[in-house]
Amino acid sequence: MPDVSLDEFAGEVTAFFNANAKLKMAEDKPFVWGEGEDDIGLFEEVDRDKEQVELKEAQEWRAKRYDAGLGWITGPKEYGGRDLSAAHERVYAGIEGRYEIPNQQFFGIGLGTVAPTILAHAQPQVREKYLAKMYRGDIVGCQLFSEPGAGSDLASLQTRAVRDGDEWLITGQKVWTSGAQYSDIGEVICRTDPDLPKHAGLTGFVVDMRAPGVEIRPLRQMTGGASFNEVFFNEVRVPDDHRLGDVNQGWTVALTTLMNERASIGAGGVGGGSGLASGTRLIEMLRHFGLDQDPVYRQDLMKLYVGYQVAKYTNQRAMDRIKSGQLPGPEMSIAKLALTQNMWNTAQFVARVLGPRIIADTGEWGTFSWNGFVLGIPGMRIAGGSDEVMRNIVAERVLGMPKDPGIDSKSPFKDLKVGTQTSD
Ligand SMILES: Cc1cc2nc3c(=O)[nH]c(=O)nc-3n(C[C@H](O)[C@H](O)[C@H](O)COP(=O)(O)OP(=O)(O)OC[C@H]3O[C@@H](n4cnc5c(N)ncnc54)[C@H](O)[C@@H]3O)c2cc1C
Repeated sequence: MPDVSLDEFAGEVTAFFNANAKLKMAEDKPFVWGEGEDDIGLFEEVDRDKEQVELKEAQEWRAKRYDAGLGWITGPKEYGGRDLSAAHERVYAGIEGRYEIPNQQFFGIGLGTVAPTILAHAQPQVREKYLAKMYRGDIVGCQLFSEPGAGSDLASLQTRAVRDGDEWLITGQKVWTSGAQYSDIGEVICRTDPDLPKHAGLTGFVVDMRAPGVEIRPLRQMTGGASFNEVFFNEVRVPDDHRLGDVNQGWTVALTTLMNERASIGAGGVGGGSGLASGTRLIEMLRHFGLDQDPVYRQDLMKLYVGYQVAKYTNQRAMDRIKSGQLPGPEMSIAKLALTQNMWNTAQFVARVLGPRIIADTGEWGTFSWNGFVLGIPGMRIAGGSDEVMRNIVAERVLGMPKDPGIDSKSPFKDLKVGTQTSD
């Protein structure tokens, strides 16, 4: 049993926030159409200089939070966590949502996917070396899985790790690596034995993103920003103690990361602050454009509201399982699908209300800003497992349908015709 009751903890967290942050305007003021924040884009669109400034602010906040004993609420004490329950974490999140804090998206991947994998699969000295620093914000992590020829079918990856004494030499190319440009470490999955079937010859490592031989090149997305990258490895040296799990057991390591990724994407929800999940922004939009008495728009608005509410409670149930120590299961695929489906339905609804205003920027508040949301949705539908792949998972694991026939998981990897593979 945790040694701090939920009420005591809420008092502690509130005192911390009152001493260190300002209450959000929304706390005293209801949402008013035309006033306040008008950024509802799904991806960060800041230039690299501004990004550095925001990163520093984010890190300072994270350090303050950690030093107050609130940086890793559910984590084990031996690695710097507080060892409290999922319910304590929810109390924290509920209170945090009422205060203005620096943008924390820099830590989404590192803490949402890489750190849980380090905790589950790294050697004790590597856990000690990185976990507390990651939760304190001193170190930012990224996830180096996808390659030009390996996305949905991740086990087709070709980046190689070759053993050299107490080290490994990593060579190959990763792609779509979010946040690589400001990350200190990365979780990378490499092929260590091409003679084994594709899922069997993989190994995971924690790699230093500033090591010689790591080259990071930005990729620009259609929304204008460049939040992800290509990453090239040219004989990058990684100590053997930075291996995640056993040699050739990297598939299990990757699955831990992917499950946590789905959990963190699903749990992230969308647009709570801008009133999407609560419907406020959408209700006010209908009012503003004189459509609030239109029965078809009203009905569609309620469908959206119900969709967000169902997703919220499904996520909460799944998150409770995870935080009580169980591995997230196929329900996280449902959560991710629900999230992107809700976004897609919202985009369709908003496009009908706004018409051409969503394409041409007239400077009118609350209109063109939706462009960043609509154009960001395809990325959301692909990232962390595409909608189609999520449907396959639900079909196979929840509905018990036959397995997708596409993947050869028996032949040695070197005998498969994968991209431009050169495995010998
Ligand atoms: C915003 C964003 C951030 C990302 N960040 C990262 C990151 O930080 N690190 C990282 O490693 N990767 C990242 N990715 C990459 C992401 O994991 C891949 O894009 C994703 O796995 C899909 O792979 P792919 O792009 O190669 O598409 P493909 O796998 O080639 O898929 C192409 C199309 O085929 C469909 N398809 C594929 N297989 C099947 C199947 N079996 N059944 C039915 N349909 C199928 C897909 O749904 C898709 O429509 C990111 C992607 C995005 C969009």
